[in-house]
Amino acid sequence: MQLRIKAGSAAENFLRQQRFVNDVSHELRTPLTIIRGYVDLLESCGADDPDLFKEAVSSIKKSAQNMQNLIESLLFLARADQGHQPLNKIPVDLDDLLKKFVEEYPSSRVQITKLTHCRILADAEFLKKMFAAFLENALRYSPPDTVVKVELTSSGDEATLKFIDKGIGISKEDCAKIFDRFYRTDKARTKLSDSENSVGLGLSVAKWIADRHDIEIKVKSKPGEGSTFKLIIPTI
Ligand code: ADP
Repeated sequence: MQLRIKAGSAAENFLRQQRFVNDVSHELRTPLTIIRGYVDLLESCGADDPDLFKEAVSSIKKSAQNMQNLIESLLFLARADQGHQPLNKIPVDLDDLLKKFVEEYPSSRVQITKLTHCRILADAEFLKKMFAAFLENALRYSPPDTVVKVELTSSGDEATLKFIDKGIGISKEDCAKIFDRFYRTDKARTKLSDSENSVGLGLSVAKWIADRHDIEIKVKSKPGEGSTFKLIIPTI
């Protein structure tokens, strides 16, 4: 027998909450297991082995960083859900903001290939957080010897910002789900090691920020060839 659960009902909320607790527990378990494993190893023989000591410290550091990122994303989304995430929108030169933002990344991996002047009404800090989600995914899911292109053009009362990568790509079915909380494609799971920083919340945060700025997100992708995330942004 299959139970029919009404959208928005108490049963649906309960199931959603249960899934959420499962997801969070699962995501915390991996870094904690790594930390426990290395601490045990250090306790038994690590202090006498400099290579093992270095490896343990680096892995513990990465796992702690992953947990911190997870908790920060969860807090962000919790505040957003409760309406406690105030935005301070002011006129912003998007081209300047983008240029400064990209300078933080290695030029061998990220290049701005088109840059048009455009002014928008936005909270710059939130926008940078959103750009980081797209750019860091583009870098994470593409080979290290490829370049991620960033293009900013404008036409009429819209700016178009694209993040273009030549990475693993996303199937059509997955494209519909990647903005869901904790969703990761199987390809992404197998490509990344446990210590890499990926929990499936970056795009949920990015989508929330985009919605608050009336930004439309379009994804074009082909498995094995790469992805383009296109943002259509109202200008002033
Ligand atoms: P994560 O922290 O796992 O990257 P996101 O919410 O940012 O979480 O992304 C969700 C999933 O969407 C990723 O796990 C990955 O499967 C897929 N994805 C996002 N961006 C890309 C991209 N540029 N190329 C390939 N897959 C991507």
